[in-house]
Amino acid sequence: MNSTDLMILAVILLAVLIYVKLDTLKELFSSNDSDISVANGGSNDIVQLMRDNDKSYLVLFASQTGTAEDYAKRFAKELKSKFNLNVLCKDVENTDLENLHELPSDIVVSFFVSTYGEGDFPDGAVMFEQYLNSAQLPDLKFTVFGLGNNTYEFFNMAAKKTLKMLLAAGATLIGELGEGDDGKGTTEEDYLSWKEAIFDSLHEHINLSETNNGFKSSFNFTYLDSIDDNAYLGELTEDYLPHHEVKNVANIKHPLITKITASKELFKSVGRNCIHTEFDISGSSIKYETGDHVAVWPFNANEKVEQFMSTFGLDPKKIFNMTPSDSTMKAPFPCPTTIETAVRYYLEITGPVSRETLSVLSEFAPNNIKQYVINLSKDKEGFAKEITAKKFNLADALLFLSQGEPWSQVPWECLVETLPIITPRYYSISSSSNADPTKIHVTSIVENSPNDLTGSPTLGVTTNLLRNVSLHMNSPESTKILPVQYDIMGPRNLYGGNSLPIHVRHSAFKLPTDISVPVILIGPGTGVAPFRGFVRDRVHSVTSGENANMGKIMLFYGCRDENDYLYEEEWPQYSTQLDGKFEMIVAFSRISDKKCYVQHKLKERQNDVLALLNQGANVYVCGDAARMAKDVQHAICEMIAQDKGVSIEDASEIVKAMKVNGKYQEDVW
Ligand code: FAD
Repeated sequence: MNSTDLMILAVILLAVLIYVKLDTLKELFSSNDSDISVANGGSNDIVQLMRDNDKSYLVLFASQTGTAEDYAKRFAKELKSKFNLNVLCKDVENTDLENLHELPSDIVVSFFVSTYGEGDFPDGAVMFEQYLNSAQLPDLKFTVFGLGNNTYEFFNMAAKKTLKMLLAAGATLIGELGEGDDGKGTTEEDYLSWKEAIFDSLHEHINLSETNNGFKSSFNFTYLDSIDDNAYLGELTEDYLPHHEVKNVANIKHPLITKITASKELFKSVGRNCIHTEFDISGSSIKYETGDHVAVWPFNANEKVEQFMSTFGLDPKKIFNMTPSDSTMKAPFPCPTTIETAVRYYLEITGPVSRETLSVLSEFAPNNIKQYVINLSKDKEGFAKEITAKKFNLADALLFLSQGEPWSQVPWECLVETLPIITPRYYSISSSSNADPTKIHVTSIVENSPNDLTGSPTLGVTTNLLRNVSLHMNSPESTKILPVQYDIMGPRNLYGGNSLPIHVRHSAFKLPTDISVPVILIGPGTGVAPFRGFVRDRVHSVTSGENANMGKIMLFYGCRDENDYLYEEEWPQYSTQLDGKFEMIVAFSRISDKKCYVQHKLKERQNDVLALLNQGANVYVCGDAARMAKDVQHAICEMIAQDKGVSIEDASEIVKAMKVNGKYQEDVW
């Protein structure tokens, strides 16, 4: 190969890299300091930053949706409060690690790494992965905690790769790899056990003395008398404040408020709801491809905000500002703002309670229950039985423990710094970027389950908000039936009752570009969402004259009965338009004594499924990660084993290879 060849190769490689990671680059260049959650510092050189700010411990996170970031910040905060360490907590994105080998050997680095897609690193960690691949770090001591989901083939793969590459670089692991498992719903307890073991191990490597003087704020709080146009009333970014120009940029740091032009209920039954929402992206910088995910940015319902405020005796109108005590930190959400705004728009107040949160707040518990609360926060089983199993949110839990007495001693500063920040929820887009280029459709099941222990149902934040908007748009008086009400006008009326902030996250869940490749789609419940997009895409191809060679589409869908049959009226139409190339096979689970699920239908149609697989069909599975995806994979392995006369283990290897080659794709949650 001569130098011209090498140059051409380099240009091609660069072009491919830019193409594949275009969104990451766009986010990187457009990232702005007013983002609501990512800590930032002046210099990007990590060693310089540590030195300049006299830091004694480094926590790095690679986060896709904010979970790894959340755990990293909690870990950093506890290191500070428990051991009085001066911790730098930083996103690996935008961080220059080139000089990491120069870090003094008494500084430990803790990595928090999420796994995304098929064992991939988060989008913002591409450079981090590249750096680790060739790093030499003989003096580095480190810990790793992974955030993953065991229902995926490549469980915690990015964290495992991080560990492997660091060991190959000569670095020393402290303790063991921690593996948070969202699939089992045990991430919180996985983290707590890992953290306790790591704190023990750290003593052997660095000089630690426990201070434990209780909560110490990492920010300077000031309280203001009056509100002006620079105060945030729920705006997510600075440019949504009055007299600012809104940037037409949409990413995880800058969602765009987008109009909902249509919304309707899809279920026919009473008591369960599924909302179809159409966001209008015409004229917006938001672009998507069929199979992508859209993130919807929620906020808390009025009743939950009021419950929270009264539990802590908070003054809703109080205006505060929080500024970090050094330049490497950043306020978790935009300030100045009011206490009520922070509770409504920026804090996650209704999810399950963490044992660690109870431990932090125990210091401020009413005197008569303080010791009981401290003990409960240390008792994994007792906490699971008394708090988690009852599906209490924080306010429910504290009022239950204090028998209704408010927890007025908890400082606002402590709440702000302890509670997680509200994060966007992702939805598999159910429209087609070819058939519906100016619309993003979302198909969301409304999370609402009765809870006799609290007297009020356990509700999902985003899906109940989408339902509130839907009812408001279609018949405002019917919103009275809702279990909770939202301030759907939004901050300074920005949402007007029919808009919400969104951004798109690109996904690898894609139809084959070769239209002649047959596809087997398996998506019960709202798992059918991206497949509606896929089928609409194929219909668009046919109506644009591309149907000559179209491969067959088999869609296995599952629902309880006719009442929750999603988009029932649309499918026959698609079948006609696709001229018999599209077949829908429905598993009804509740119309007879014998439950029938998609995996049973797959078995019933074994010959057709195998025929398509032998023609090189792609398999796509979407929906419930906990059980369905595993049952489906098992059914397919059984069929392959039978067809090829091999063992189940060998058939599993075949499916694994299909996954690696993109022939078997999953979009499960
Ligand atoms: P949350 O507020 O996030 O609550 C989550 C669950 O916890 C709910 O069931 C809620 O009832 C329960 N809960 C709330 N508080 C407590 C408590 N204190 N204790 C115990 N439990 C509690 N969903 C769809 O409907 N359609 C899709 O197409 C879709 N696609 C997805 C694609 C991806 C890639 C991912 C990751 C997820 C997808 N989801 C989809 C799921 C979706 O992102 C949300 O998780 C879901 O809609 C619930 O959001 P929520 O804000 O309403 O509920």
